[in-house]
Amino acid sequence: MYNFLKSVLKNLLPKKIIFKYEDQIRMFLKPFYVGTSHECNICETKLKKFVELENGDLICPICGSLPRTRRLNFLLESEFLKSNLTFLDFSPSRMLYKKWKIRKDINYYPTDFENEFLSDYHYDITNIDSEGEKFDLIICYHILEHITDDKKAMSELYRVLKKKGKIIIQTPFKDGEIYEDFSITSVEEKLKHFGQKDHVRIYSILGLESRLKNVGFETEIRVFEEDNYLGFKKNETMIFCEK
Ligand SMILES: [Zn+2]
Repeated sequence: MYNFLKSVLKNLLPKKIIFKYEDQIRMFLKPFYVGTSHECNICETKLKKFVELENGDLICPICGSLPRTRRLNFLLESEFLKSNLTFLDFSPSRMLYKKWKIRKDINYYPTDFENEFLSDYHYDITNIDSEGEKFDLIICYHILEHITDDKKAMSELYRVLKKKGKIIIQTPFKDGEIYEDFSITSVEEKLKHFGQKDHVRIYSILGLESRLKNVGFETEIRVFEEDNYLGFKKNETMIFCEK
């Protein structure tokens, strides 16, 4: 039902219109999905079920959130988002942007270089237009695999982070070594080799951790459990960095 409606809407309406009326579209879909078996912690809807995508990810039929976005929300709200925090968020999800933007107790800096995501700043992660030691918390979620000079990006993250500040990093991961090959430049080849047309590498967990240590961070790898009720994925991994 959800996929059917979504494809009908997508084919009939331009993206701009869908975004403009997303709240109304959600209200229309809601009666089909409300229940008690699950809950989306972002739009706070109790659900009969999540919608399973082809890759197995469970998305919320009401707000469209991905498992990794719901986990990030859970983690931030339970552990990290403290009052008076200065918080830099790269390419935020639409729902989290809306949620955090209205919080008066945090200094929220949502940024997106290419202006594809809702944001208020447009920092280049390899040359961040900010003084050093400004941020208490940085979210760098599914960003570094897009950046050719990732060493420069990591040094910049280190520079703008306060001492004892934290960064939460996630990218797609593979086993073994990091896979990168800068001779691969066409969109088709990037898709074939790196799984997405604008990715320039696939990290391994230990490979990414080692690059982060090299610019000075202390690191911790955290692997999370599945949560059926909240629709979190098994073995989801994040790297936490501290300066
Ligand atoms: Zn939701």
